[in-house]
Parts: sequence; structure tokens; C-alpha cells
Amino acid sequence: MTAEISGKWTWTMFPYMQGVLDAFLEPGLKGIRCMKSSQAGWSETLATLLGFIIDMMAAPIIVLFPKEKKAKEFNLERFEPMVNSTPRLQAKVPLTSREKGITQTFKLFPGGWLKFVHSHSADEVKSSSARYGFVEEPDECDRDVRNQGSSVKLLLERLKWFFDTFSIMGGSPTIEDLSTIAFEMELTDKRKWFVACHHCDKTLPLDGQAWDHVKWPEDETRNHPIFGKAVPERAFLVCPHCHATWTNQERVLNVRRAWDLQRQGVPGYGWIPTAPRSEFAGFYISDLMSCAPQASLQVLAEKRLEADYKARTGDLTGLMLFYNNQLGLPFKYKSPAPKIEELEARCEDYAELTVPWGGLRLTLGADVQGDRIALVVVAWGRGEESWRVYWGEIHGNPVDQNDPSWTELERFLFRPYRHASGEELYVEAASIDSADGNTSDAVYAFCRKHRHRGVMAIRGVETGEIYRVPRPIDPARKTKASRYGLHVYLVGTEKAKDLIIGFGEHGGKLRLSEKDDHGNLITGRGAGRMHWYREIRGDYYKQITSEIKAPRKGYRRNKLFWDVKPGVRNEALDCEVYALHASRSLKINLMTEAQWFAIEERLRQPDLIGRANRGERGELPAPVQAPAQRNTPGAAPAPPQPEKTVAGAAASRSRAVDPLLAQLNMGGGAHTQSDSTTPY
Ligand SMILES: [Zn+2]
Repeated sequence: MTAEISGKWTWTMFPYMQGVLDAFLEPGLKGIRCMKSSQAGWSETLATLLGFIIDMMAAPIIVLFPKEKKAKEFNLERFEPMVNSTPRLQAKVPLTSREKGITQTFKLFPGGWLKFVHSHSADEVKSSSARYGFVEEPDECDRDVRNQGSSVKLLLERLKWFFDTFSIMGGSPTIEDLSTIAFEMELTDKRKWFVACHHCDKTLPLDGQAWDHVKWPEDETRNHPIFGKAVPERAFLVCPHCHATWTNQERVLNVRRAWDLQRQGVPGYGWIPTAPRSEFAGFYISDLMSCAPQASLQVLAEKRLEADYKARTGDLTGLMLFYNNQLGLPFKYKSPAPKIEELEARCEDYAELTVPWGGLRLTLGADVQGDRIALVVVAWGRGEESWRVYWGEIHGNPVDQNDPSWTELERFLFRPYRHASGEELYVEAASIDSADGNTSDAVYAFCRKHRHRGVMAIRGVETGEIYRVPRPIDPARKTKASRYGLHVYLVGTEKAKDLIIGFGEHGGKLRLSEKDDHGNLITGRGAGRMHWYREIRGDYYKQITSEIKAPRKGYRRNKLFWDVKPGVRNEALDCEVYALHASRSLKINLMTEAQWFAIEERLRQPDLIGRANRGERGELPAPVQAPAQRNTPGAAPAPPQPEKTVAGAAASRSRAVDPLLAQLNMGGGAHTQSDSTTPY
């Protein structure tokens, strides 16, 4: 198939790509995945495949690119030249815009069409169904298109409507555990390119791992500013079997011979699967397989020495790019998060929905998805020590503001939480994510309804502080939120995640722990420690460690971002970020010892201090359950409270929390109640 379409291109530089093309016609396959170095000849392969489909198997085709610019470049530099130089395609694919509907990113041909889309637009990716889906550089494609999920996933969903679909993905990997293409490769039969040593005739795969066999001599008389004594221009490969050396030229000849032998049907050479049979063929391609002069051993050795030199100065981006772009391997970037087993072992014996002694003030963080509301309730103490009181999800249809899931969220917001003292605590502030375009109307309606009770509509942004006072509502700017008369609070998610799982002197609360007398790892007590209960839902641990801070391609050196691992949900982490935001809105991190002590006194001696101060808010309905029943001096300790109705719970929440805190001037944020002046 290749000779006919690819015309003059002779594959001498990238002989292994012919094997990738052949996989397209292998029976029983549903797709091809290719994790590759950056100059592996992939664009030519992609163009050839498109030409073949248009000519021989016409059907709708979508090709996803990371950016619009890349889509147009591919069209002008690869696709259109191929059509122009191939008479069979020229006859089928009109390229001029005189034809109706033809653009740089849309082509028509008998039996189908071809669309180049880019990953920033969910509408584009979701607009049509196709039989063939291609993804170019999946690791650079948008991971979350307007909160509707990864663009790669959205594209694959477009293929479901056709019988007998085929998807093709090719790209360089990025960071281990974050890389989409590395994740996809796990589902494949993992083919590697085996070449024979011209000395001993034994074979070895020339994937990125074979870099271990590349060496270069040192010259004691040299002192190069970057290379030191190393002599990269004399780099060679050492056969792991017979330890004889290969020059660069010998390596190229061995690569070409492997293809010749595979084509002749000699087993053991060229592409060989290293994993069980799969519906997806996977190909590992490194520069060590390339026959192009820009991928010679000398060039590679120089690049590696430069990267090592940079790494010694603390800049790891060069090394990362060498792994990704030359070896076609994901770069191992150490995650600061503790292991899941460690977190599980550190759980503590207190019940869900109860607050241990140190926790004195409650906040809630909620992440709203199309079919559920995920939430955490967190109790805060001195030095931002914190206890998980609840982690879970409310399933429903939160897109509809009248859906029962919102009533259920009200129950979590306004119910009493039993404190170890026997008293009750109430949620004082809540931050609810409004970034999802589908659910934002419902979130705004909910937050407007409860805005006097510390309920904030928030949106995560990568820059800035965890909490900041929102800008005044500008009536001239007709945003969705302003139509609801709402401020949207921006949450600095990068800083919040730094604090929870990050690196650095003040980061990584999740890691804070100590050993007990038996040598077991426990959370212990102290500023910043994070506690969770034994029965916490098991997915909490996986989700709280779901992100890695690592460099992103295309950003300035050593700039790191938090990104979610592919295939892992991260709502628990998001909810923690939002609960932290809510606590910062209350300035809990700035409370004085006197203020903490006053709350503890109220909890220890409720009859002397706390209850005398509690009053009803003028506007609120009377509580369903009269507090006087429990407050009689000398009465037995109150039994655990059944959950109250929403109205009753709301009333008691306002009643219990605030008068004392208001006296202590601990209300904090811009949203705190101003209508709390009426004593009972
Ligand atoms: Zn050998």
C-alpha cells in the first residue's frame, strides 16, 4: 500500500514505519498506538494512511491536533503536497476553496470527508461522528476541554456510532504517570524493533531502553565547558550479548537489515510483540532506530551531555526532553505524594460525620459534575490541622437546579456534626465549583439562595492566592454570574495543591506524619497534619494523590504545573482544595490562640458560655427541635441527633456557630453574615 500513495518518499530514513502502516490492514485490530521520538517520520506515515483511506476505504475521518496552528501546518506541509503529487488522490480530493465547503481543515471526497480539528474546542471535537479517528500528539492535547473531559476521550467517543471503527494515535510521551500515550500503550501488544548484532547475530530491541548500551570515550586532555572530558563524536553502541561495539553506520545497516529480513518473512527480526495479543497494535519508536543523520549516535550523545549539564544546574527540562523526544520514553518525575498504602495505614478511629477534639470549625468543598456532586466536610484546628469529617458523592442530575441532589447538599451544609465534646458543630463556609458550563446555572442559583450562609460559587485558576476577595460585580459585564447577582470567587489551585501535596518547605501536608512507639507510621498531632477516619470511602486515597506536579511542554524552563494522571479521577483533591479555600475565607489560618481557646471553652462548658450566647436569627424559621430540651442543666448527655429537616438544620446552624465567633471578630470573608444582630 505504501509505494502507491507515498510516491517519491522511499522510507530509507524510517524503514520501521512500513511495519506500522501494514498494521492498518492486519485482521482483528481496532487501532494503532505509537509512542515515539519526535522525528520518527510519523507525519509522513499519518499522511500516507489518510491517502490510503481516502483512496481505498473511503469513510468519514477526523484528525485531532493539539492546536489549530498544527492542523493547518499539517494540511499545508504534508496533506496537500501529497494529494498534489498523487494523481489518484488529485482526482478525488478537491483542494481549492472554490468547491463548496472546502477549507484548510475540511475536505470532501467520494464516500466521505476529512476534518482536521483541534483540542481546545469541545464543540469541534464533538460535532460529528466518524469511522476513522486520528490523534496527533495526544500528550499535548487538552486534558479538560471546558470541563467536559479530555479531548482525546471526546474524540474516541465520536467513533462509537460507526461499526468497524479504527483509531490511530501517535505522539511523544511526557511525564511518567501523566502521559496519555504511555497510558494507551499499556493496552497494546507493545511491539519493539529487534535488530541483529552483525558480530554475534543475536538480536536486541532498539527501543529507548537500549540507550543504556550507548557509550562514548573520555579524553583526559579535554576540558569542554559542557561535555567535560567526554568525546561524543566517537559515541558507539555496545552489543549486550557479545560486547562488541557498533559504529553509527553499523547501527543504521543493522536497522535496515532487520526490515529486509522481516519483509522476507524471517522470524525474529523487525517488529515483534512483547505483550499478549490485543486489539491495539502498539509501537515503541526511539531515535536509536532512525536512519536519519539528525539522529546519529554522535548527535544523541551530544544532546544527552547537554541535558546532563543542565540537570547539574537544577534544570531538568533538558533531560525530560531527551527522554521524550529522542528516546520516546516518559520521564520519571518524582511525585511528592505519599503512597496510597501509607495513607491507608494512617487512618484513625473516629466515626464518619463526627469531629474529633482538635477540630473546631467546619467547612465544605463541593465539586459539581454532570451526574453527581462530590463533597468533603473538613474540620479545622490550630495551625490548619484538619480532620476529614465526610467524603462522598451525591448522585443525581445537578444540571437541574430543582434536582434532589441539591436538597441533599443542603442537608450536608446545614446539619449538625457531633463534636467529641458532645456538642455540635455546623459548616460555616462552603466553596462550590461553578466552572462546569453545564452545571454553572444550577450552582449559581444554589449559591445565590445560600450566599448569606457562607456558600460561595468558585472557579479554579492556576495563578494567584488560594483565597482572594472577589472583584465587585460589574453590571456592565453581563456574565452569567452577574445575572445571578453573584461574585465568583477565584481559587488559586496551584498554590492550594502545593500546600496539600506539594514540595517545598511549607508544602505537602499530606505527608506530615511520625512513627508511634511500635514503629508504625501515624499522622500524629500538630500544625498542618491531615487526618482521616478508618471508614473513609476507599477511593479517597487514590483521588487525593491523583495529580503530579511536573513541567509542561511548551512552557518556560522549570515551570511546574499540577496535572491529573490519565484515567484517574481527582474530585477528592478538588474538594479538598475548595474546603481549604472556604477555610481561608474565614481566616482560620490567622486565628489567635485566644480565639481557639474561646471555642474550646464554649465546647467544654456549653452551659456557661455557649448556650447563653446562642440566639435565633430574626429572619430564620424556628428550629424543628427545640434546643431547650437538651439544654436543661443536669439532663443526661444529648443522644446523637437525628438529621433535621432542611429548614430546621439551617436555623440551628446559624444559631450554634456564630454569636461567639462574631464577638471574637472571626467572621472573616466578604460573604459573612451581616444580618446576625438579633439576639433571642
Ligand atoms: Zn553481539
